[in-house]
Amino acid sequence: MSAWESNVRKVIPYVPGEQPKENNIIKLNTNENPYPPSPKVLEKAVELEKLRLYPDDKAELLVDTIADYHGLNNNQVFVGVGSDDVLAMAFMTFFNSDRSILFPDITYSFYDVWAELFGISYERPALDDNFRIKAEDYYKENGGVVIANPNAPTGIAEPISFIEDILEHNKDVVVIVDEAYVDFGGESALPLIDKYENLLVVRTFSKSRSMAGLRIGYAMGSEKLIKYMKDVKFSYNSYTMNMPSIILGTESIKDEEYFRETVGKVVETRDWFKEEIKKIGFSCPDSSTNFLFITHKDIPASEIFNKAREKKIFVRYFKKPRIDNYLRVTIGTREDMETFLEFLKTL
Ligand SMILES: *Cc1c(COP(=O)(O)O)cnc(C)c1O
Repeated sequence: MSAWESNVRKVIPYVPGEQPKENNIIKLNTNENPYPPSPKVLEKAVELEKLRLYPDDKAELLVDTIADYHGLNNNQVFVGVGSDDVLAMAFMTFFNSDRSILFPDITYSFYDVWAELFGISYERPALDDNFRIKAEDYYKENGGVVIANPNAPTGIAEPISFIEDILEHNKDVVVIVDEAYVDFGGESALPLIDKYENLLVVRTFSKSRSMAGLRIGYAMGSEKLIKYMKDVKFSYNSYTMNMPSIILGTESIKDEEYFRETVGKVVETRDWFKEEIKKIGFSCPDSSTNFLFITHKDIPASEIFNKAREKKIFVRYFKKPRIDNYLRVTIGTREDMETFLEFLKTL
């Protein structure tokens, strides 16, 4: 190793699901929405000439629209380049104690990557045998708590009372609740932000709003929490929110009817698909998300994964302890899921 290399920050990066280049594939591997964004988003062409200008560094149009939508003050909202950016900023801002932060052993696999990147020590209490989070594991002293609710890749949601219990036992640290999938059936912790100034609720436009390609995420919390995050963000890069994101994100929020319609279709397809695969030997936890975490009683998940891939159907397989016999299947259109079901039946 060269001398300079000993001073390099060395990290093992997060590996996102594959984004295949070919056409004609059924893509059920990265929890994208199968429907296009609201037609209002598509209509609102950004005047390209304007792109010569810097965007509004405070992204006020988008922040105000999100705040109104949730009935909040605009200084309770922080926006970022996807919720990954928002979560990374939150880790950097809030997790600076000597104690370990806590998140489940099976959860979004970016949390440990950020912890490593920022030099934050962490512990991962194990989910129980039914993949449920054990609240008691979060009662001990810690440097912060991160809970994805609904959790990924299990799809399981806990009620708001569960989150409040964790907050009651964690008044001295920041508790982050990652609600990437909440629109598909979870119960939001948002009503608790006035009561707990240490609660940060994080959302994304990538799943329920069909806008993964634009990269918009946001956090909501007390004015104090949001101010601390903004201070860190503006010490790093002022212009993270680009002009199309600000304008088109705002249009998406304004079209509530379309949002409800497409989320409703995904939920309906999910519940239908779940019943169908149960008839052929699969099982899965009840999902409050746009994916199912499925396992088969006889056929190994790795085998299904490989054979599906040969048929140009992509799902997600995690080669990790405890979940290596499961597949995470994103809910596509009804047609996509019918094709996948037919394929599963041939196996
Ligand atoms: C998809 C996802 C994210 C990241 O979403 P982006 O807004 O696209 O960065 C964060 N947390 C969880 C649990 C997710 O599934």
